[in-house]
Amino acid sequence: MRSLFIAFFIVAMISIVAVATSVSINSKNKGSVVITDPLLKTEVQMWVAVMKHHDVLHSKLNRLEEISWGKSTGHAGVSASNKIIIDPSLRGDITKLRFTLWHELGHAVYKLSHSSGIMSEELPDSKFIKVNWWEFREDYITKCKKNQYHVY
Ligand SMILES: [Zn+2]
Repeated sequence: MRSLFIAFFIVAMISIVAVATSVSINSKNKGSVVITDPLLKTEVQMWVAVMKHHDVLHSKLNRLEEISWGKSTGHAGVSASNKIIIDPSLRGDITKLRFTLWHELGHAVYKLSHSSGIMSEELPDSKFIKVNWWEFREDYITKCKKNQYHVY
């Protein structure tokens, strides 16, 4: 009886670890995205939590190799060849940073094209983003939901 309990306990622990690592954003885990900065990491973790909450978190996130700060001419952010690069000037503007990060994750994880709201080609000013954020967010989640089974 005791060994049965121990076996059950071990299986339960393995399941918990498996669930915990499947969406982890840990640079030590192979196959997980490397995030080079604590601010970016916090923002991505928040995005992950929102997507999870809406049951739309896609495993393609783990195919991303890196999310980091970097300059690219004329763009607030870029996502190419499994990397997302965010302009370091956004470090001081959390609203624009969040908008840009969600935008690039939309391209990279859900293959969203440019449209409206968060997937607009132009980066709006912070005030406009703040006023419309909840509407943008709902619209974005709907777009991700639509695309989640068509990203491969
Ligand atoms: Zn874009």
